[in-house]
Amino acid sequence: MSFFVWRLWQAKLPLDDTLKKWGFQFASRCSCCQTPQEETIAHVFLRSEVAQQIWKHFSGPAGIKIERLQLSQVITAWWEASVNHHIKIIYQAVPIVIVWELWKRRNTLLRGGKLSVNSLRYKIMHSIILFMKARRKNFKYAPYNWVDLLKALHTYTPKLRITQVCWRPPDIGWMKCNTDGASRGNPGRSSWSFCLRNANGDLVFAQSKEMKEGNFSNTEAEAKAILQALRHMEINQMVVENDSMLMKNVMEKKWHSPWQIINTVEEIWRIMSERTILVSHVFREGNKLVDFLANLALDRGDYTANSFQDLVIWGRKLINSDKSNIPYFRIRNCKG
Ligand SMILES: [Zn+2]
Repeated sequence: MSFFVWRLWQAKLPLDDTLKKWGFQFASRCSCCQTPQEETIAHVFLRSEVAQQIWKHFSGPAGIKIERLQLSQVITAWWEASVNHHIKIIYQAVPIVIVWELWKRRNTLLRGGKLSVNSLRYKIMHSIILFMKARRKNFKYAPYNWVDLLKALHTYTPKLRITQVCWRPPDIGWMKCNTDGASRGNPGRSSWSFCLRNANGDLVFAQSKEMKEGNFSNTEAEAKAILQALRHMEINQMVVENDSMLMKNVMEKKWHSPWQIINTVEEIWRIMSERTILVSHVFREGNKLVDFLANLALDRGDYTANSFQDLVIWGRKLINSDKSNIPYFRIRNCKG
């Protein structure tokens, strides 16, 4: 189904031509009705008795009027319904699911199979609920009745979870190196940054540079940042910290490396095998200094600071706020 949905989404509106171009083959007599009629796109997907029952069943309770509309207008009506954004995703999926299931039913009947309107309705509900669960993991109660489901969607309010995120200095005798990569466009103009701080939280060195060799993805920039940090500073007992869960797991060899960064990662592994290096993950809010520096490189050019006094004022503010252990607040939707 996903390829079909993707194509439909890309084309925005499934006009007759589009559907024909995608290889929807129509016969002269329909298989969807007890008394066969001429089989057209309008008939199969909208005008046949079964199609009408299905559209009315879903459109009515959703407050969408489809009388006298063409198929493309029906789909647009669903897509443009003024509902809040939680419901919008579902409303955009519903007409696609309906069209797809009507097409599958038509093919089943063409091969001599059977599928009642009730079963069809159930299959559509099933697809909608699967889609919804994939999008909203915290939506546990999913009634198989369309009217009840709509009610539940309208009364749904997301639960927010607030966590405190702090940058923590390394233990005495250790250095901490935060790294970050920025990519505008992903892939697009990219930069890497890193900064080294001691157990007091004082800045030892910071650098950021644009990757002028071309356009890169976020992951490539993240990996490059780590490699640059390791290459630049031959420090034993260093904690490398960034906000990429992927990079942490790749560096610790728990996950496979994405192929785009395999060369960079192998170089990182080689250096790590020669020194005592720990890997740590911090949420974005605890990695603000290097995030700021990576963007600085893209806005104003390559940047190096050898001491706190060297740093631009906003960088100094971030260092001081990290040192004072002022937590940042991370607000997100509850999952599970
Ligand atoms: Zn028919």
